[in-house]
Formats: sequence, C-alpha cells, structure tokens
Amino acid sequence: MLPSLFLLLLLLVGGGGATAGHGHDDAAARRTMEEFAGFPASESDGGAFPLRVDSENLQRQIDELASFSDSPSPSVTRVLYSDKDVQARRYIKGIMKQLGLVVREDAVGNIFGRWVGSEAGLGAVATGSHVDAIPFSGKYDGVVGVLGALEAISVLQRSGFQPKRSLEVIMFTSEEPTRFGISCLGSRLMAGSKELAQSLKGTFDNQNVSFVDAADSAGYKIHPEDLHNVFLNQDTYFSFIELHIEQGPILEKEGVPIGIVTAIAAPASIKVEFEGNGGHAGAVLMPARNDAGLAAAELALAVEKHVLESGSIDTVGTVGILQLHPGAINSIPSKSHLEIDLRDIDEKRRNDVIEKVHKSAIDISKIRAVELSEFKIVNQDPPALSDKSVVNAMEFSAKQLGLQYKLMISRAYHDSLFMARISPMGMIFIPCYKGYSHKPEEYASPEDMANGVQMLALTMAKLSLE
Ligand SMILES: [Zn+2]
Repeated sequence: MLPSLFLLLLLLVGGGGATAGHGHDDAAARRTMEEFAGFPASESDGGAFPLRVDSENLQRQIDELASFSDSPSPSVTRVLYSDKDVQARRYIKGIMKQLGLVVREDAVGNIFGRWVGSEAGLGAVATGSHVDAIPFSGKYDGVVGVLGALEAISVLQRSGFQPKRSLEVIMFTSEEPTRFGISCLGSRLMAGSKELAQSLKGTFDNQNVSFVDAADSAGYKIHPEDLHNVFLNQDTYFSFIELHIEQGPILEKEGVPIGIVTAIAAPASIKVEFEGNGGHAGAVLMPARNDAGLAAAELALAVEKHVLESGSIDTVGTVGILQLHPGAINSIPSKSHLEIDLRDIDEKRRNDVIEKVHKSAIDISKIRAVELSEFKIVNQDPPALSDKSVVNAMEFSAKQLGLQYKLMISRAYHDSLFMARISPMGMIFIPCYKGYSHKPEEYASPEDMANGVQMLALTMAKLSLE
C-alpha cells in the first residue's frame, strides 16, 4: 500500500469527531503526509484533517438543487435544456469553481470538473451522474452521484490529499429519456455512439422542437457535424465510479449500508406487429378467423416461457405494451402491436431469448395465418460488467471504513453502462427508503449518503495513486 493512502485511511477510519492539530499522532501523520505524499501539510491550518463528510452542507445543496423544479416541492421536475435545467447546471458549475476545479463543457452540455493531479498526463479517475429528473420525481436519483461526488472531492481536499492521477466529476446530460426519448444521451455520446450522433440531427421533442434548437436555447450552440467531438478516447479515464441510490429495496431490507455493483443489466427492446383479416365478431365463424389479437396474446405468453427457460433468475422479460386494432368489442382484431423489454446481465443469454421470441413469432403467424408485419429490435445494448480493478478498490475501501457491503447487480441501468465502453467501471449503491425512486417519496438518509461519499472518496484516492 502506498504510504500516503495509508495515511488517508488513518484519517478516514480514525478521524471520528476529532479535530486535527493536536498531539503526537497528528504531528506524525503530518510528517508522513509530507514525506510520502509529496505535498506540504502546513502548520497553520493544523495539517491533516480527518476525512469527514459535511452532511449538513450536502443536504443543503440537495435541497437547493431540488428548488430548481417545474413542479411543486417535494416533487422535482427538471427536463433537459429547460430553464430549470439551465439553473441547475449553473449551480453545479458554481460548486465546481468554488472547489477550484477546472470546468469544461462539451457540445451537448456534459459538464466536467477536474482536480488536476501531479501526473496530469495519466488517465484520470472519474466519477459522476446526472441531475435531470423525470416529471414529479424525487431529489436524490442521480443528484447523490453529482453533489456527493463534489463533496467527496471537498473531503479529500480538506484532508490535504494530493491526487497523482487527476480526479474528475462529470454531470451527464440527459440520463432520463423524458424529452427526446433517448436515455443516457450524454454518456452514450461520450462513449462514441456514431448512430446517436447521426440521429440527433433529426431528433425532435413532442412539441416539435429540434434537439439542436433546444440545446441552443440552453446556451449550447451545436453544429451537428461536430457532435463527434463529444466522443472520448479509450485512455481518457483510468477508471469511472458512479455513486447512486439503489432504487430498489434490497440494501434497506437487509440493513447493509453499501452495495458494490458487479454488473449492470441492459435492456433490449423489440416492437412486433401482427396483421389479420379482422371481421365481424358475430358473422365470422371460428374456423375462418385469423385473429391478430390472439397471435399477440400467444406471443406474450411465449416471452414469459422463454425467459423462464433461460435457467437464470437474472433474465427478465416484460410485454409492457399490447395494443389491438380497431379495439372494438364486436370486431376481430385485425392488427396487434406489442413492445417487449428483455434484460439480462449475460448478453448471450439475453440474445438467445430474443432469437427464441423471434422464432415463436414466426411460428405463431404461420399457425394462425396472420402476417408478422414487423419484428424490429429497437435497441440491444450490451450489459456491462464492473472492472475487477475498480471492484477491488471499492471492496478495499469498504473494509477500511468498516462498512458492511453486498456485491450486487444493477437491474436499472445508468450512465455507467455506457462509460464501461470507454473505461474500467464500477458503481457504489446506497440504500434508499423502501426502494422508492422516480417519485417524490424518494429519500436517502444523511448517514447513508455520508457512507457513500466516504466510499467514493477513498476509492478515488486509491485509484488516483495507482
Ligand atoms: Zn439515476
């Protein structure tokens, strides 16, 4: 272990409520810092401070950020490039500047705050999340991973820590698909999605405002040909860690303060349409029918069957949309439309299910004499595995902090899913009240947030010195 990291651990673990600057131990700690970490711990400010999270300040910032909302408190509504989103962006940049970070924004408004390390040429250790909020949601989703990350930086600064690799906090643009129907827009683009860069040129919201015009109104002048400038190189980051509320009930129920995410499940979405002849519900006799509705019903059951047969509890499938046309009680459905969401942490296993569903759709259409007029895989993102190096650093930190942790899977996806394409990735989960998320009752306790911030601070410090 590097001595400076060792010192950091002493501060974190032994810091407790003590203020620094007294006694022999602190003097020794200061000498160790100066000797091994390569920076002066000045006498005047008492030298080394314990790595204590300022929970009050963090909560105040969370509450202030929540006030930039288009719906009344306690709900939060903050949609991409709206006035409230612009105010939130200004707020985040303000804190970054207060912390002395070098602030940069890319073409679509991903915001980066960098604490330049002593070896600035090395890949940086990054963290971050989002602050956009779907209509009438809560104030912790994403926000804990941005304001908490800035608090982690502040904690490290107050401790006297000096990074070797630069540390960077990222606020991602539009993790939520609310406005343009594209989730993780900022991170997807950062990770080099050429398809997205291409499609954004012709993307409109439901008020017919183009993506380019919406960005312009928020102060981002986008030249559509330049969107590839958002792409980041594979060596930009040494590692990426996202702190996030669990958005599920497991940690709270089990009384475990920290979740270390080992994999993020990824969805595939499929649109299916069947067409038949329809007809009068009384006049057309059963042998003469080709009912598109029944084909859809059979396919929905086939989805469940194939998912259950995968042999893993991690495979899940949902038919969340099933529409019949013309939708009249006395008319045989002539058209049906299904949308299927399939998720897994194992890409091959999930893709096997997609193939089986496709085969079933073809078989059903033959047996029922309906036409399979569409079977479209809308998206098929690969799942992501957390990198061993980041998981190790997180486990190390949890042990040093004396925090019980659970290795777990993220069944919701996050910006980390896309960051994993360009950087070794890991995620830290903290409990949230009853697993509530995307509603005003969303809540994480100051204590749980402080644990998460300490985990993040120590993990980043460790990786920074590697
Ligand atoms: Zn989120």
